[in-house]
Amino acid sequence: TQKPLMAANWKMHLSIREAVNFVARLHEAVGTPDDREVLIAPPFTHLWALREAMGAAGYSLAAQNCHWEEKGAFTGEISLPMLQEVGCTYVILGHSERRHIFGESDEWVGLKTAAAFAHGMSPILCVGEKLEEREAGRTEAVLLRQLETGLARVPSERIEKLVVAYEPVWAIGTGKTASPEQAQEAHAFIRGWLAERFQKEIAKNIRILYGGSVKPDNVDALMAQPDIDGALVGGASLDVASFGRIVRFQ
Ligand code: 13P
Repeated sequence: TQKPLMAANWKMHLSIREAVNFVARLHEAVGTPDDREVLIAPPFTHLWALREAMGAAGYSLAAQNCHWEEKGAFTGEISLPMLQEVGCTYVILGHSERRHIFGESDEWVGLKTAAAFAHGMSPILCVGEKLEEREAGRTEAVLLRQLETGLARVPSERIEKLVVAYEPVWAIGTGKTASPEQAQEAHAFIRGWLAERFQKEIAKNIRILYGGSVKPDNVDALMAQPDIDGALVGGASLDVASFGRIVRFQ
């Protein structure tokens, strides 16, 4: 099994100076744990400076989005080779803010996931239902659609590189965390689907992160669930003390 992955999704926050300072202070606070992986997903413009500043901390870097083509006339987009050049090994894809604010389709997410594999990067594929979908009993149908289309084109070799993030939309930035049991239920459903789509042994090793109002005071109960292999943290990842405590979940 792989190490738990504790990921900070900074979204559109922090200056480069603040970001560099954050990594130094986080390293002072938690060092470089050998039994869990720490990942930072800053805005694109911060990646190069963070890679240079990473030094002994050695945390992993992720981008928050990418384009699936290597290059071309795509004003405003960033390609996977560009991200690799600035030290990214992961890329967050299909975040609910991309889907719901910027209209990203399941098909686009599928093209991006396949392109990430083709470049040897680890996609962090985000899936999750909206409140009205949960209330209408459609959670599993939504997850199925997002998984099937999001992973339609991925090869079955190197699939351990895949990370899935379950982020119920109603729990993002709202302070309403899914209960550990609600999260576990969705994670078990996702792992069951992965076991059918790929192989049982491989599905066991694919990390499934929970995201949505993860805080220092709920991380331990979430991480205690058998199918929760890490966290994708928004708001609480902007504060060194909070994110440090999340990284040091027990
Ligand atoms: P919050 O932790 O702020 O709820 O955000 C979760 C998220 O969207 C992480 O990708």
